[in-house]
Amino acid sequence: MSAGSVQGSSMRRVVIAGGGTAGWMAAAAIARTMGRTVDLTLVESDAIGTVGVGESTIPPLVTYNRLLGINEADFMRATQATFKLGILFDDWRERGHRYFHSFGMTGKDHWSAGFQHFWLYGQEKGHHQSYDDYCLELVAAMQGKFAHLPDDRVNYAYQLDSTLYAKFLRGMAEADGTTRVEGRIAQVELDGERGDIAALVLESGARIEGDLFIDCTGFRALLIEQALHAGFDDWTHYLPCDAAIAVQTESVRPALPYTRAMAHDAGWQWRIPLQHRTGNGIVYCSRYLDRDAALDRLLGNIEGRTLTEPNMLRFVTGARRRQWHRNCIAIGLSGGFMEPLESTSIHLIQRAVLRLLRLFPMRGISERDVAEFNDQQHTDMLQIRDFLILHYKATERRDSAFWRQCGAMPIPDSLDQKIELFRETGRVFRKNEELFAENSWVQVMMGQGIVPRAYHPIVGKLRDDELARLLATLRDEVGRTVAGLPDHAAYVARYCGAM
Ligand code: FAD
Repeated sequence: MSAGSVQGSSMRRVVIAGGGTAGWMAAAAIARTMGRTVDLTLVESDAIGTVGVGESTIPPLVTYNRLLGINEADFMRATQATFKLGILFDDWRERGHRYFHSFGMTGKDHWSAGFQHFWLYGQEKGHHQSYDDYCLELVAAMQGKFAHLPDDRVNYAYQLDSTLYAKFLRGMAEADGTTRVEGRIAQVELDGERGDIAALVLESGARIEGDLFIDCTGFRALLIEQALHAGFDDWTHYLPCDAAIAVQTESVRPALPYTRAMAHDAGWQWRIPLQHRTGNGIVYCSRYLDRDAALDRLLGNIEGRTLTEPNMLRFVTGARRRQWHRNCIAIGLSGGFMEPLESTSIHLIQRAVLRLLRLFPMRGISERDVAEFNDQQHTDMLQIRDFLILHYKATERRDSAFWRQCGAMPIPDSLDQKIELFRETGRVFRKNEELFAENSWVQVMMGQGIVPRAYHPIVGKLRDDELARLLATLRDEVGRTVAGLPDHAAYVARYCGAM
């Protein structure tokens, strides 16, 4: 098909293959926004099940739920969610060091210069308070506090049970007219002439025809790869971890409003507090740590009784070359995977679903739409990839072969430019609607030990007393606001208890 051509006449019959978080997030959004303009069918197999992990999210999910008209307290009760204000990184820069990547702003930006420039100038002038002290979300997180504030002043996300989230969305999608079909897909039938997908044939012999297919079959990528061979870019040379083990434990303390990412000598471990339990997992590089040793390490560093058998997972970091190929769109793990270090997978599902809705091929598939979708999705993934690589590359750790490999590895030019620009000038820019804004980059770069050598000269215009007043005012405001916030766990209990 030539670029610009529009193929087919109607895209009325939409079939989603797979009912994990991706499948039901797609179904709920399409059913709610497109209504009866499409016939939506979702096929899933209880016998195959879902990946069964994925608990920490980032703030855009709040907006996604709002777009779908979801009541937040209902959602939190249904998914046993807690609020999340960021991630605490232990032992990443070096053993014994920790830093926090928070949501929200730090200090106050000037149009020409981010707050880090004022802070750097302040350091030179003897104001030695931490950069952290100027961020409301960060200070609240470290004190275990949370509340909604007027004008969405607190930027937050959720820690949730993604299996329960899929179930919750299933209820919505079915109420909005989605037909769910239970069964194992045995064959993906292609149209002999065009090579598009014509139907999914189930083990039972049932045949589900469609115009547009959404592949949410997880790592199997049954439609997009096994049937259509869209191709895969392997990024293991940048992000060498390739395995994970997840286990759930009972809660032993009130839930904190943040996720922990604790580095070890061949990867890292997560701890995610939900209302009813804690999610734990180890991510590791199998070249340097074998499965039994990884399991021992994980079980040796958890709190409370285990509630589940360990869930062992292998993965290849990378992205499907064409996320939309012919009449099939890959959403979720079928589209690619990057480790959950910055909790970006559910976000990528959300981005793909919203993007599909914006580019929905009502009167046939335009190759221009396909190209646009693939370009935007690819850009998102590359930007997230760079941000993740930063955590491994910018480290002073050399205490294991794994960290030595990370320290020595070549990095993409785009990341090198970002790091060196920051190191040289203190500047960092957000491009192409990048997910992680300037403050995220600043916090992680400084957290990993990259300190700028200079600041924007404009901050030097401030007199010493003006600078002192500015810094003190911003700090006081954060301190005062956080002092007035309630304890996070108590707030969640109250909020979710309220009907
Ligand atoms: P799956 O959950 O695997 O669902 C696949 C679906 O396809 C299932 O319903 C299955 O039954 C169906 N299926 C497959 N084959 C067939 C067939 N032949 N016939 C019928 N049905 C079929 N994301 C985050 O945002 N935050 C996190 O903290 C996070 N942590 C993670 C940790 C790890 C170790 C991993 C691996 C992932 C993590 N993720 C995280 C990612 C998150 O788990 C996934 O993005 C999310 O669950 C979506 O998965 P999915 O729906 O694409 O696939």
